[in-house]
Amino acid sequence: MRVTWDEKTCIHSGECIHNLPSVFTKVDGKFTIIQDGATEEEIRKVVKGCPSGALKIQE
Ligand code: SF4
Repeated sequence: MRVTWDEKTCIHSGECIHNLPSVFTKVDGKFTIIQDGATEEEIRKVVKGCPSGALKIQE
């Protein structure tokens, strides 16, 4: 499983960073996804909750 992020689609609501900061974070001001920072289940939940659809799961 891999998480992708579409910068153009993201509305920067911050839900992902707020709800799962061990995966969705900023490094040097750049949005970064740490793929192994949480369980698949936790990551899937946050991806589902992304209001813009910018986050997607690739199996
Ligand atoms: S939850 Fe979705 S729309 Fe909100 S900041 Fe994260 S990727 Fe962007």
